[in-house]
Amino acid sequence: MTAITETVMTNANCDFDPTSKSLEAAQQDILAAVEPIANTETIPLEQARGRVLAKALTADSDVPPHPNSAMDGYAIRLADLTDARSLPIFGTNLAGFPAHTALPEQQCLRIMTGAVLPSGADAVVMQEQVSVNGNVATFPPGIKSGQNIRPIGDDITAGSKLLPAGRLLGPAELGVLASLGREEVTVNRRIRVGVFVTGDELQTPGNKLAAGQIYDSNRISLLALLESSGCEAVDLGRVPDSLEELIQLLQLVAAEAGLDAVITTGGVSVGEADYVRDAVAAVGQLQLWRVAVKPGRPFAYGLLPDDLHFFGLPGNPVSAVVTFLLLVRPALHKLQGRAGNIPPLLPAIAQTSLRKRPGRADYQRGFYQQQVTESGISLQVSALSDQGSGRLSSLTEANCLIALSADEGDISAGSVVGILPFSLLF
Ligand code: AMP
Ligand code: MG
Repeated sequence: MTAITETVMTNANCDFDPTSKSLEAAQQDILAAVEPIANTETIPLEQARGRVLAKALTADSDVPPHPNSAMDGYAIRLADLTDARSLPIFGTNLAGFPAHTALPEQQCLRIMTGAVLPSGADAVVMQEQVSVNGNVATFPPGIKSGQNIRPIGDDITAGSKLLPAGRLLGPAELGVLASLGREEVTVNRRIRVGVFVTGDELQTPGNKLAAGQIYDSNRISLLALLESSGCEAVDLGRVPDSLEELIQLLQLVAAEAGLDAVITTGGVSVGEADYVRDAVAAVGQLQLWRVAVKPGRPFAYGLLPDDLHFFGLPGNPVSAVVTFLLLVRPALHKLQGRAGNIPPLLPAIAQTSLRKRPGRADYQRGFYQQQVTESGISLQVSALSDQGSGRLSSLTEANCLIALSADEGDISAGSVVGILPFSLLF
């Protein structure tokens, strides 16, 4: 095995490790090594949720295409209202049926929300404000020109910038495209990411455990994380702790075109059966190893032949998930060509003190909730009492990560800390 400097802790109360890269530097280095993919495809809107817009879009028509009413009510010409404030009703326009295209003078038109506004009309009065007697409508004072009228192009003007390249297509973006009459959209190709787990002790769920075995939970967690990150996830199975077998699989994966990245868990630390780094170095280049983050110090990034990105995550299930979220997910987003790939921290008030040693960034599992008081709305957060990185079930008890930066020490109750809600991450 390669001789890597043993960790030198400068002080037992400090978590500083001179062989680890800071989280921020590791994130930047990995992002710098990733180029967005260039291939695109044109697909129906129905299949485009969660995909990334390939090119900036400009509106090619007006929405709405005709002026229309924003209310159920009566269309009038303001100048027609005399002191009596009454006008005869000459007909009705329903949405979808432009029965009356012009408003005759000295008359009003009953009009429904979305119905085409007749020419000549300059205001719509909501029906709740109008008293109707037989065929005559009487209007209140204070009507303003243009009220309750949606002019042509009110929502989108032809020629205006609509969506930037790199925008993730969600319900709102897809709706806007449909409102312009589009049925297809050009998106970046989905990236394909392979996952395999390493460890002699791992058994696949559904089988009986032999002595000393545990079930492999990382593979399903990572496949699910990849799906929720908009990737096509490819299950590459499980490999024993064997340098030869690891090298063989990495060579196979690199040779078999079609993957953009490969993720492994386990075997990336300093144990006697930890061969992942050596295997990566044998097949490609190891670019980064060890990040000053808790949980998750043993993390590796490398490049395999033909620009295949390699991410080696720690085996501890919580560390695997946290390092995926902090170090892999932003890189995959960049690879997808997605804009805005690091979610913002939300401020929350620590309900209890938080134990933290300076020297390493710490992402503690926490539970946050909204607190409404006379002084306003805030978020309150508490850390789970057991932060063990082997306790995967703690991720189901938590709903956020509490982000504590490397230089911070213990945090006192009442301090404001930054949190990453799971709902923003997966
Ligand atoms: P390692 O990083 O290989 O030293 O593994 C650290 C810890 O994570 C050990 O307790 C492993 O048994 C456990 N572990 C490794 N891989 C998995 C996995 N796929 N599913 C669940 N636990 C794992
Ligand atoms: Mg292992």
